[in-house]
Amino acid sequence: MKHRPIKASILTHNLSHNLSRVKNMTNSAPTWAVVKANAYGHGLEPALKAFRESEGIALLDLEHAAFARDLGWVGRILLLEGVFAEADYDDAVNISCEIVIHHEQQITWLIQWLGKQGPQKAAELLAKCPIWLKLNSGMNRLGFKSAQYGVSYEILKQIGCTVHHLTHFANADDPQIFPSVQDQWGIFSKATLYVDGLKSAANSAAIIGYSFTHADMTRPGIMLYGASPSGNYQDIADLDLKAGMNLRSEIIALQELQTGDTVGYGSQYVAPKNTKIAVIACGYADGYPRSAPNGTPVWVGKAENILDGQIAPIVGRVSMDMMMIDVSNISHAHIGSPVELWGELNPIDDVALPAKTVGYELMCGLTNRVKQEIL
Ligand SMILES: *Cc1c(COP(=O)(O)O)cnc(C)c1O
Repeated sequence: MKHRPIKASILTHNLSHNLSRVKNMTNSAPTWAVVKANAYGHGLEPALKAFRESEGIALLDLEHAAFARDLGWVGRILLLEGVFAEADYDDAVNISCEIVIHHEQQITWLIQWLGKQGPQKAAELLAKCPIWLKLNSGMNRLGFKSAQYGVSYEILKQIGCTVHHLTHFANADDPQIFPSVQDQWGIFSKATLYVDGLKSAANSAAIIGYSFTHADMTRPGIMLYGASPSGNYQDIADLDLKAGMNLRSEIIALQELQTGDTVGYGSQYVAPKNTKIAVIACGYADGYPRSAPNGTPVWVGKAENILDGQIAPIVGRVSMDMMMIDVSNISHAHIGSPVELWGELNPIDDVALPAKTVGYELMCGLTNRVKQEIL
């Protein structure tokens, strides 16, 4: 049985390569490889294999932390949003997670939880679960403001916690926007001047653009998967990062249009001349953005070798299961020709940008009707 031809290949060796690029760029600073959102859509299992050389992984759900342990992950695990309820501290100990604390409520839960444990279990949490106290240095999403930070630190130290420090940048991908990385780094440095513990601040954009933020542990996400934090491929073109995923399909039909004929729902494309159109088995129900306009690039390869090919532009609206491209200039385009929607031949950023989104959203948005192959 031949399945509908769309498939996502996860390129484990490229993910590993990107991690080693991060290590090169950061003087081998320890990493939290960020694997939230099912490793940005690539799957936790291949990601753990690929990121073996990372000291730790960072994610959101205890359930996924437990799954990582089941898969044999023995490195560090960071819960990026900490616990969502008091009882979660139980599981966090059992799974040996390091825990972000970003809000007073999480300290209250911790104190209450510790009070209900025997001394052994309490000691176990304090020994196995370092706390990463989060500073809100200007993003105003998670974390304590500077004024509360020192007090929270003291409380946690009094309880007996090991405390480390983290913050998150709002605009590391765009120096024009306030607050800048320098502003936020200044606030973080000041708040952590007289305290013990490790520091972590840099996401991908800061790893790439601001080496003074690399500190004790970096937190690369999007760059591990081969896309640009800014959404612009030019910003990473020289960094030797490789696509973590090839989303590929095939041409399933061809049409010859006359001048003035239109294509697809809403007839959004009018042929300015006689045009050859190819129909591809990929649509928004696969996770391809419906917002991709006319002109968004698709790679069309030869049947015998996809590497031998060229870019063709989308014409007409992306529909649920199909999309159309102009192949007037591609004589080798025929039914069964392989196409790449995004990946090593067609950077995901080049698709995201015209669709007014970012590679992050496309990766995470692949739907589960797309079969995955781990390479
Ligand atoms: C998602 C996330 C990261 C990784 O960000 P990228 O832009 O993908 O590198 C780092 N730190 C925190 C707190 C995050 O939530």
